[in-house]
Amino acid sequence: MGEYEEHETSQDPLHVLRHSTAHLLAAAVIELYPDARYGIGPPVEDGFYYDFAFSKPLAEADLPAIESRMRRIAQEGRPFVQETLTRAEANAEFAKRGQDYKLELIADKVEGDDVSVYHTGDFLDLCRGPHVATTRDVKAFKLLRVAGAYWRGDEKKPQLTRIYGTSWPSPKELDDYLKFLEEAEKRDHKKLGKDLKLFTVDDRVGPGLPLWLPDGATIRRELERFIVDEELMRGYQHVRTPDVARLDLFRQSGHAQLYAEYMYPPMRFEDGEELELRPVNCPHHIVVYQTELRSYRELPLRIAEIGNNWRYERSGTLAGMNRVRSFALNDAHIFCTPEQLMDEVKGAIDLALYFSKVLGIDEFSYRLSTRDDVKDKWLGSEEQWEDAQAALAEALESMGQTYELGKGEAAFYGPKIDFQVRDAHRREFTNSTVQVDFQLPQRFELEYVAEDGARKRPVMVHRGAAGSMERLFSYLIERYAGAFPTWLHPTQVVVTPIADAHNEYAQEVAARLRASRVRVEVDRRSERLDRKIRDAKLKKVPYVAVVGGKEVESGHVNAQNRAGEKVDITLESFVEMITAEIAERRRPPQR
Ligand SMILES: [Zn+2]
Ligand SMILES: [Zn+2]
Repeated sequence: MGEYEEHETSQDPLHVLRHSTAHLLAAAVIELYPDARYGIGPPVEDGFYYDFAFSKPLAEADLPAIESRMRRIAQEGRPFVQETLTRAEANAEFAKRGQDYKLELIADKVEGDDVSVYHTGDFLDLCRGPHVATTRDVKAFKLLRVAGAYWRGDEKKPQLTRIYGTSWPSPKELDDYLKFLEEAEKRDHKKLGKDLKLFTVDDRVGPGLPLWLPDGATIRRELERFIVDEELMRGYQHVRTPDVARLDLFRQSGHAQLYAEYMYPPMRFEDGEELELRPVNCPHHIVVYQTELRSYRELPLRIAEIGNNWRYERSGTLAGMNRVRSFALNDAHIFCTPEQLMDEVKGAIDLALYFSKVLGIDEFSYRLSTRDDVKDKWLGSEEQWEDAQAALAEALESMGQTYELGKGEAAFYGPKIDFQVRDAHRREFTNSTVQVDFQLPQRFELEYVAEDGARKRPVMVHRGAAGSMERLFSYLIERYAGAFPTWLHPTQVVVTPIADAHNEYAQEVAARLRASRVRVEVDRRSERLDRKIRDAKLKKVPYVAVVGGKEVESGHVNAQNRAGEKVDITLESFVEMITAEIAERRRPPQR
């Protein structure tokens, strides 16, 4: 990119356009605020930003005026002109303009005596380009928001005002992007989590430690039941193991040495005991494996747990439920023979696919991460790696799945498959993994008694199928914009009596539904009917069952779903209909 902050110069036309728009922004700012000082202004995904020091604080309300000045400059068609100055000339130019941040960049970033600058009319920037020809090439842009940012990302340096914007080749593309942003904002899980009272984050508890409120906890319970029941059916054995262990356990696994940056300081006691919050579940599950001498007849042994893990994340990276410091992982460790590896990998992929299908995770891709060519970057034998990589690739191919190859991206102890998913803002994250491991079986000297009586070493597969409950929840909130499928929704039916006279029947309907384990609320407020229906819709409740004189008499309910489809049926038919929908975990109708 054109900034001296970056090492590469990007020729990508979209980057060039966006970086040029950043210059345009700075030019407009300097015309409107002559004493403002400008820092850096690179292109970013979907747009650009520029950092400024203003003498008075800038508010979002000031953006439209800056934007209209940008528009005026764009129409003038000022050319972007590159010039090479000597270091002394460049210093003099920026000093004359009072731009001390640029002086600092020249001192720190420019090598040699040649300094590349760009003119846009009177505006001068330290920049290597490239740029569009004239400001008229900047056609469709919008300033989006204002944020604080430390100069050069350093907390000890002054805080600047960062103005974010977006820029596109045509007004149509800009429009589409703004619509997408609006939709993503509506779906943002932090916003919906608050509006729908699903979870909260409180400073007194700490950042990255969300509290699941009753409705959120109900959804989590349903998710966990679904996951655990399915795994039990597929031959997994569920265990419960503690969140902590002696630090020595993690020394043996290698985490204390190789994973320390994500681990919390150990709790040290007077008698020398050291306990550690676990960053992973593997060592505990290995101990479960070793509670008895295993026979080949017991393999594959699939030990599963929705286990709590603790990982230290810097507070700046924490985001709602998506990135947290403590999370519950849908984890399993499969201990098997090398011959069983392929089938176990297929089984793990099949389970992740099944969870994705039921939960509505429709868009995802696979990445197969393999080892580096450099020998000291991985452990185990070349043959083991080749076999495991082949097993992973073959498993994907035999299931008709395409994948991207991530050469050199494997963990040091074995290759893996990552399932990549995108959130409402199109940010990609890893939801589930299948990972082959030769290292831990060796470190813990795992064994089984083979058919011929010899002691052999099992292979271990680390497998996360539905990911962490927290990340899955954040995804589902955005995926459904809060309108969860009926089986997951915290309130499945709101029964609404038309008048007080119908309260008794409303209670009867509710009791009948509850007897079939349907989650029901009765709205007995003395509000108007349309108000009650509207409130239920705001909470995205799957069914509103209205009961009045006619229903009392006929033993019916008059129910409508979120798509506005209405049914007038007997109470028993309604119970049957909704319990079938829940049992089948049907997805809500798409609108
Ligand atoms: Zn530039
Ligand atoms: Zn593991």
